[in-house]
Parts: sequence; C-alpha cells; structure tokens
Amino acid sequence: MSGPGARSRKIRTGGAAAAAGDVAVVGRRGAQRWERGHPWIFRSDVESFPAVPAGVVRVRDERGQWLGTALWSPQSEIALRLLDPRPDVRVDADWWEGRIAQAVARRATLANSQGNSGELVNAYRLVHAEGDGLPALVCDRYDRWLVVQFLSAAVEVFREEIVAALVKLTGVAGILARNDPPLRSREGLVRETVLLYGDVPREIEVHEYGIRYLAAPWTGQKTGAFLDQRENRRLVGTLSRGRALDCFGYHGSFALHLARKASEVIVLDISEEALARAIKNAELNGYRNVRTVQANAFDWLRDSERAGERFDTIVLDPPSFARSRTTLPGALRGYHEINLRAMRLLARGGILFTASCSYHMTKALFSEMLAGAAADSGRKFVLRAMTVQPPDHPELLTVPETGYLKGAILEALD
Ligand code: SAH
Repeated sequence: MSGPGARSRKIRTGGAAAAAGDVAVVGRRGAQRWERGHPWIFRSDVESFPAVPAGVVRVRDERGQWLGTALWSPQSEIALRLLDPRPDVRVDADWWEGRIAQAVARRATLANSQGNSGELVNAYRLVHAEGDGLPALVCDRYDRWLVVQFLSAAVEVFREEIVAALVKLTGVAGILARNDPPLRSREGLVRETVLLYGDVPREIEVHEYGIRYLAAPWTGQKTGAFLDQRENRRLVGTLSRGRALDCFGYHGSFALHLARKASEVIVLDISEEALARAIKNAELNGYRNVRTVQANAFDWLRDSERAGERFDTIVLDPPSFARSRTTLPGALRGYHEINLRAMRLLARGGILFTASCSYHMTKALFSEMLAGAAADSGRKFVLRAMTVQPPDHPELLTVPETGYLKGAILEALD
C-alpha cells in the first residue's frame, strides 16, 4: 500500500495540532507499517496515546496527516489495529455488518461445496481476524451455530454490534463466545466461555466431504474442532491406503478420512477426552477399522520404530511446539524428532502428511527441518506437495501473523 493510492487517501489537517481525546499520534515506523499493508501499530510506535478507553480512535502522524481509524487497546503491546483508512468513518452497527458481510460472501462457494456423498461442508471459519480486515475477531461456523472469539479489548467493546450483524447475516440458532485463549489476559480481558445468543449444544455434528464427526464447541480445543485442516484431511484421504497412523489425532478427524481407503487406522493422542470422541466419531461413520491409542507420541513413535513397525500412511499433526520465538530451538528439535521417526516408520512407497501450526516455524524453517530429517533417516523422499491454509483462513502476504499452518506430503521412494 505504498503507492500513490494509499497516499492520496490521507487528508492534511494543517499541521501538528494538539491531539484530541480520541486521536492517536504515531511515529514514522508505525505509519510505515500501515503503508506496507500491516494493520498493527505497537505501543512503542505511538507518540501520543488517546485519552479514551478501549474502542475506536482516529490516527494521524506527527506531521498531522490522517492515517485512518483504528481499534485501540490501552493495555496491549499491539496498541492500534487499523480498521478503515478513512479517519472520519463512523464505526457503528452498519459498519460491522458491511465488513462481516464481505467475509461471509467470500465463503459462499465453500458453504455450497459438496463432498463425495453430496453432503455439504457445514463447518468452516467465517471470520479470520486480520485476514478478513476484522482485527482480533474470530468466528467459526458449525452448522446452525457460531463460535466467536473477541481477542482484543477494542473488539470486545463492539460485542453487541458484532453479534447483531452475525445473527442478521447468517440466521444461526446460537452464538457461543470461546473467550478463553490466554491472549485475552494480555488485553486486560477476563477469560471465559459464555453464551451470547440463542442456544448452542455441547456437541455439533460436522459434515466434511462425506465424513461426519462431533465437534465440542464448549469444551473442545480451539473453537471445538480443527477446521484449518479440513482441506488437507480431504486431500490425504484420497492418498490413504494400507496400515494408517493418525498421530496427534485429536478426535480422529484425519483418521475418518483415512479409514475410507486404509485397511486399519490407529488414532494416537494424549487426550482421553478427545479419543473418546474419536471412537464415537468412528461409530457415527460406521467404520470398524479405527482404533485409538492413548500415549505420548514421542515415546510411542520411538518404541514403534524400535519394534520395527511399518505404516503405509502417516499423518503427523502436532500441537504448536513453538509458542514464542524463544522456544523455537527446542521446538525445532521436537519437530525434527517426530518427523525423523515417522519417516523411518513408513513402508516403501508410503505417504507421510506432516504439518506445523506454529507461526514461528516459518515455511522456510519447516522445509529445512524436513530436509534434515530426511537426510538423517537415510531414505529418499519425494516432496509431492506443500500445503497452505484453506481459503476460509486467509493468510495475507503483508500480514504474516495471519498465517500459521503449513504442511507437506512426502512419499517414501525406497
Ligand atoms: N489432527 C487433529 C488436530 C490435532 S491438534 C485434527 O485434525 O482435528 C494436536 C493434538 O495433539 C491434540 O489433540 C493434543 O491432545 C495432542 N497432543 C499434544 N501433545 C501430545 C503428545 N505429546 N502426544 C500425543 N498427543 C499429543
């Protein structure tokens, strides 16, 4: 956004007038971030803070040029998040409805896409925060219900407007707020799970390209399921065969897709609650070739390798090992270890789908780690595909933080 178009949107105010209560003045570095297409301005780049509580503020630079309207989080390191390049826009119920409507429209094709058995995909991300121009707001659709997350103090202020817009645009039967992520503490917000509208059941049946599984919106991980792997599950399902392992399988969502073509599938996870649902999910689909193993994947993979086990299809979908930059070295060792073991467990011609959902594990680091593990395995692997986030989790090139999930499909040659 550094072209003339971006510049012409700025309106001169005639010099550096004293900031009004709802105005933030930002330094050059902050202004440049917006010009380069990134919506965040950090505290350290704010020269003069607004004298109003969390909400919407107007933003200008030190020379008095207006830069736009932003969400203002007084306690957060991310002080300002760009909402609209117009400094004079009214951020009211209509504004939220308009912006959310754009996000909903982008998913129209997905909402109508059909699986093998002609069933609709009924669960997907409706709003992916900054990726949809709706900073700090996440909303996942599960059939006739929505699960939302308000992840900044400013977006929290507009709870009513956002809920009203979502109800109007989607006609859902209920909205649950999973406002329990640790991120909320950094914004000075309470962590809670609360019903915001209608009613939301404890379990919701998800339809995903001919597979059915139960999501747990109130108690499950994230908003109740891992919707970000949906397209990868479909893809890997088409490649699956023989003996299959769904490692870090949660409630078996990969396993169900694998079970269609594999003779036997093991779902491995450390969580008893998730595995109990995996069993229910296998029954829901009438699969008798799925069984669960509760174990620590690191130990189980090591023991299986020692025992000389072999699998024709393996999925490795671990949790984020690198939650911050400082934990990255340890995380890299963890990723390397599980990938190396999975590579050794693959039968000749076998397929490995491996993923990382850690933002700090960049695509480059991920590829490098895989190459290292392949070298250490002493075997040859073909890189069949690299995968990125599905379109309902839009990853903006200018906002790297909107992207976190990456994956690779490898084939063992020898
Ligand atoms: N593949 C799943 C999502 C997996 S999320 C899906 O598509 O739905 C990561 C999973 O790893 C979680 O279910 C978590 O319980 C599990 N997990 C975390 N640490 C583990 C460990 N050391 N061993 C086995 N499972 C683990």
